[in-house]
Amino acid sequence: MSTPAPVAPARPPQSPALKALHKLGLSRDIDLALHLPLRYEDETRITALSQAREGDCVQVEARVVRSEVSLRPRRQLKVQVDDGSDTCVLRFLNFYPSHQKAFSEGAWVRVRGEVRGGLLGREMVHPSFQPAGAPLPQALTPVYPTVAQLPQAYLRKAVLGGLSRADLSETVPPQAWPEGPQRHWSLRQSLEYLHQPRPEVDLAALEDRSHPAWQRLKAEELLAQQLSQLQARQARDAMRAPVLASAGQGPMAGLHERLLEHLPFALTRAQQRVQAQIAADLQREQPMHRLLQGDVGSGKTVVAALAALRCIEAGWQCALMAPTEILAEQHFRKLVSWLEPLGVHTAWLTGSQRASERRAALASAESGQAHLVVGTHAVIEDKVQFSKLGLVVIDEQHRFGVAQRLALRRKTTRDEQGNELEPHLLMMSATPIPRTLAMSYYADLDVSTIDELPPGRSPIVTKVVHEARREEIVERIAEQVGLGRQVYWVCPLIEESEAVDLRNATETHAQLAAALPGHKVGLLHSRLSVAEKKAVMADFAGAQMAVLVSTTVIEVGVDVPNASLMVIEHAERFGLSQLHQLRGRVGRGAAASACVLMYSTGDAPRLSPAARARLQAMAQTQDGFEIARRDLEIRGPGEFLGARQSGAPLLRFADLATDAPWLEWARTWAPTMLAHQPQLASRHVQRWLGGKSDFVKA
Ligand code: ADP
Ligand code: MG
Repeated sequence: MSTPAPVAPARPPQSPALKALHKLGLSRDIDLALHLPLRYEDETRITALSQAREGDCVQVEARVVRSEVSLRPRRQLKVQVDDGSDTCVLRFLNFYPSHQKAFSEGAWVRVRGEVRGGLLGREMVHPSFQPAGAPLPQALTPVYPTVAQLPQAYLRKAVLGGLSRADLSETVPPQAWPEGPQRHWSLRQSLEYLHQPRPEVDLAALEDRSHPAWQRLKAEELLAQQLSQLQARQARDAMRAPVLASAGQGPMAGLHERLLEHLPFALTRAQQRVQAQIAADLQREQPMHRLLQGDVGSGKTVVAALAALRCIEAGWQCALMAPTEILAEQHFRKLVSWLEPLGVHTAWLTGSQRASERRAALASAESGQAHLVVGTHAVIEDKVQFSKLGLVVIDEQHRFGVAQRLALRRKTTRDEQGNELEPHLLMMSATPIPRTLAMSYYADLDVSTIDELPPGRSPIVTKVVHEARREEIVERIAEQVGLGRQVYWVCPLIEESEAVDLRNATETHAQLAAALPGHKVGLLHSRLSVAEKKAVMADFAGAQMAVLVSTTVIEVGVDVPNASLMVIEHAERFGLSQLHQLRGRVGRGAAASACVLMYSTGDAPRLSPAARARLQAMAQTQDGFEIARRDLEIRGPGEFLGARQSGAPLLRFADLATDAPWLEWARTWAPTMLAHQPQLASRHVQRWLGGKSDFVKA
């Protein structure tokens, strides 16, 4: 029987340093042992001042020649030292009497810091110091990731303590390791080596993490991630879900076929493929957990509608949830127009509706009279009860937290034998997940991809333009509007300066209204009430309004095919996937469409490299996968995923870009290990992810 690593005492942490340790997630010995250095400092040798080049971080031992408090250019302690080879000035801008005492004339000191070439010779600013002569350490000094309240020296001691106490027996079977130098490194050796490397090591290999000891740990981390996701999948497969297969007869039979007949378009090949994948899942006894990804405008809604119909045909209810009221309402309208003629009853549920309306919606969900319930977060509240919930569809799933997804899955139904049946779950996203991320963080999900746009879409021309050319852009808008086209103008909303942004948007609105006499220009922003927002959107969707100025980026998941020009002001402030989503609002009809990314550098002479990279990527490609890949490159997985949304603990050591071969290895090895050595596998997960693995199961 495997025993989990000992857990720290349950009593609350006392000192600020202990608290900080817990904040870093370092509660067990093994957590401490697996807290690896960011870099190292070499305190094992003393360098002669004459050998130290500018920029080097060195440790020297020298005698204090002079020590004085000088008042210009500002009050500071200036200490001149001499080690026999050369001299150096130490400067302390903040100092205490203890400094003056340590640096009294004639004292021998050991100081460590970066050598700078000052006007008057070498100097060090705020070096660390101690009396000369103490024995030199034998290993490089590790520098650990830490937080305020947790000094390196304390952390180092805690880590070494953890390392000496932790159970470091192997959890990866030796035969699992492929040929390669990491084979000859045990976990214990690797950790001891990384925490206390000898001075003669290849520091570059340690710091770029190519050293076999690092390779081994990164591989183990990836394996733990894969194993925990496989465990999550097994746990899910142990759950039961309703089998959603058509009953064949009755008023609800053949609903999805009937929708297909009535649609004004035929499904694309990609839509056909993904809807068949979903249909197959719905007929299984295990809950589906599928992510449907497809670029903006690829037609995910109709796929969701078909899934809902298969569920309804089988006599079950479906719930569809979207992150904003406008998006939810758009779905509601579209679904009602498609499904009502087929005899499907759809209810609408949001937080903002009138109490009587809401009561009616709740009642119809509970009685089962509503086949489909569409709404916002309100749909998952505990008060909302379904008679027989068979399928949950979540649009823009990345905008919902793990807790919300879990809450929906808890809306279970009991079958005749009293077994709980969990609803199937279909999550939709327009932000495609790059392959490596999908393989690592979403390994427990099934993914369907719509990789083709409906025919007849014209490509969108994207221009990156400095804000100095604003006038020109306004002329261009007048042209478009004259042709009967509609235009979006998006202003960024930065929460901290909402008032300023609102003023900008209001000014833009006034400017456009003045420049476009005879045309209606609308303004949508977050301070409007839901009813006001709806009225504005209805005008735009109904083409009574020519131009829509909007600050509420989050609300623009809308579908207005006649809109053919989008201007994004301060495009440099938006994230790449946000820009891509926004741009996807145009190019939905047959007319040639354009997107103008207007940027400003503010007070800076030029754009930051990251902002430049984003705008360039937008100008160069329209492919959502390529955009996502570049976004990942620019931001790194931590920010790309957002720990909250993904719920998965982020990888600490492995880097998906450089460690892809280890990811492949972990993916192939994990199922074998789980099947043949489940206890070892559990120990491995427990060791690496500890309490955090729960997250992954969401
Ligand atoms: P998204 O994937 O961004 O949610 P939507 O589902 O809103 O995209 O679809 C975008 C537009 O394309 C809608 O107007 C929809 O009716 C239309 N559409 C969907 N599938 C097809 C198709 N196969 N052929 C033509 N138009 C389609
Ligand atoms: Mg959509």
